[in-house]
Formats: sequence, C-alpha cells, structure tokens
Amino acid sequence: MSITGGDIVDLGTGLYAWMPPKRGWGLANCGLLVSPRGALWIDTPYDPVLAGEFLVESQKRLPDGVSVDRVIVTHANGDHFWGAGVLPDAEIIVTREAREHIHYDPTPQQQHALVAGSDPSTPLGAYLGRHFGGFDWSATEAVTPTTYFTGELELTLGDYAVQVSSLPPAHTAGDLMVYLPSQRTAFSGDVIFSSTPEQPGDHPVHWAGPLAHVIDACERVLATGAEVIVPGHGPVLDRAGVREHMAYLDHVRERAHALHAAGVPATEAARRVIAEGRYPALGLPERLVVTIGSEYRHLDGSELPGVLDVMAEVAAVAREIEPPREGGAA
Ligand SMILES: [Zn+2]
Repeated sequence: MSITGGDIVDLGTGLYAWMPPKRGWGLANCGLLVSPRGALWIDTPYDPVLAGEFLVESQKRLPDGVSVDRVIVTHANGDHFWGAGVLPDAEIIVTREAREHIHYDPTPQQQHALVAGSDPSTPLGAYLGRHFGGFDWSATEAVTPTTYFTGELELTLGDYAVQVSSLPPAHTAGDLMVYLPSQRTAFSGDVIFSSTPEQPGDHPVHWAGPLAHVIDACERVLATGAEVIVPGHGPVLDRAGVREHMAYLDHVRERAHALHAAGVPATEAARRVIAEGRYPALGLPERLVVTIGSEYRHLDGSELPGVLDVMAEVAAVAREIEPPREGGAA
C-alpha cells in the first residue's frame, strides 16, 4: 500500500515546506518557493505518488503561467530526488560531488526489484519490506541532474535570492544547504534530522562523515543567520533546536571515539550506544550502525562497504533490539 497524506506548511513570503505524513526511512521534507516570475522546489519526495501529491499542492499555490521549473537537490539520496520525474522539464541542481553518491546508491529500478523481491524470512528482507515496501518505484527512471556546481551558487527567483552552498562530505559526499535571506530560512538537507517533544523524530543516518563535518555543517546553517531551519527529516526548528541537535551529534561522536579507542568493533559499539538509551524518544536506533560505522572508517582509514552489506547489519541489529511484532516476522 502506498504512503500518502503529506502536509504543506506556509512559512510566509512565498515559501512553503512539504512535510511527509510520518517519520521513518525515506520520508523527507521538501521546500516550495513561489514568486510571480517562477517557482522552485528544494528536494522532492521519494516516489511518484508522494511527489505527485506535492506537485498538486504546489500548483494550487502558483500564479497563472508559473510552473515549478527548478529543483535544488540537497544530496543524492533517492528520498530527496527520485520524485523529480513528475517535473520532466525542470532543471535539477546538485553538487559535483553528489555524482559519487548517485553511483553508490541503487537506482530506483534496482531498489524496486530489491524490495519487491526481498525474502521476509531473512532479517534484511523483512527490514526492507517493512521500511521501504510502502514506496512505489516500479515505473521510476533514474533522475539525471542537469546542473552541477561546487562552492557557492547564487540564484534569484523574482525578488528573492536563493543562496546555495556545497558542504564537505557529511551526511553524504555532495551535500548542499540552501539559505533564503528574504525568508530568513535555511534548508539544511540531512545534516540535520530533527526531533521535538511534540513531534519525535528518528536517529540520523550518516553515510559519509566524519561527524565533525556534520557538526560543522550545522554551524554553517546557523552562520547564515537563519531563524527558521527546515531539516531533511523531522519538524521545523529554531536556532536553539539546531544547537540541541548538535549536542546529539557531539554525544555520538564522543561515544564512537571512546569505544574505538577501547578496541570495540563498530557494530558492537553501535549496540552499546543503543543500549545506553540516551535518546529514547528517537526512532530507528539501528541507524547508529551506519553513523558509527562511518565514524570508525575515518578513524581506521577503511573503505565504505556496499550499501546492502551495511543495510544487512542495520537489519540484524534492528531485529535484536525490537520486540517481535504481532502477526509474524514482517
Ligand atoms: Zn534523507
């Protein structure tokens, strides 16, 4: 069954945030900026169903004769750009470095085959089915970006400035952030996964790292002067919310370094940090396997393993920590 039912939030001055219906893997926030002379998206939803919903909501807010003809993609994970197929003529802007991550991740067709063909009797198959089975990429073509840049890119949309900055490797190789000075709003992409007491989020998942770069990227978001911060996932934050998130990142970094120094292997380190239970409200604690694994690679100088090997470890740890669900393995 498809996931539907996102919500569009008016942030004022022509700016909107589209928020997915729930937390979880692949459910990312997007932006819509509308002026009398054009409109753009910041990121797209994960599959054509959700992207189509966001497009309908966007079109309700566009002046006559204006269409969404540009998409700024904060990074090359599918949950931020595979929905671009609903805008076949749009310019797709990514960092030059994002290309590297496009080749690391599966294509939409590969991911569709993987999820549809997954064996629910294995931990990985059950995990993929449970967390990715609600998306539909059966007819999704790989998205080819049209514009690459590194450094700073200054766009204008009507009277609005749009400041796009590439970031050193953090969540992925090839992240960028967007600052909208007229709206005092930043879109951070996945260098921030937010959570508030009213709207708990998930543990972040960082594929590149090191965490010091993720923390630096949060500083750069704050250095724009933004008052409103739309993270890649989770509720909209104020500046204090970003500082709180940085404390989470500091904590994970500190624990990873201490456990590495004590000779504890990466996945075991993730198990221990999960067991310490410092952030009980956050979902998907098994994602610490990825983030701590990335941090260890920077400490060890080791290579990034294949994404399926990483996900198999994530699924195995998820199975250890989750109580069995009623109604069977999946
Ligand atoms: Zn994401």
